[in-house]
Amino acid sequence: MAQEKIYKDCGYKGTPVKITKGSILVELALWCCFLVPGVLYSLWRVDTRYDSCPLCGGATMIPLDSPQGRKLEKESE
Ligand SMILES: [Zn+2]
Repeated sequence: MAQEKIYKDCGYKGTPVKITKGSILVELALWCCFLVPGVLYSLWRVDTRYDSCPLCGGATMIPLDSPQGRKLEKESE
């Protein structure tokens, strides 16, 4: 089960969405045409994957069970 997080700018509380940079089409094309850049591109995409707020797209989600997360939760009530 995914950990619940809170986003400090819009106050959204819940499960963040995973955002992967780049494009699956570019990845497939690279894999088909040039094997090595395809591998590097795949590694880069996995490496830059991050949690994002589903409401505003912000990238600064804070875990609810951290001191800062609990403080934000109190403030948003
Ligand atoms: Zn947000």
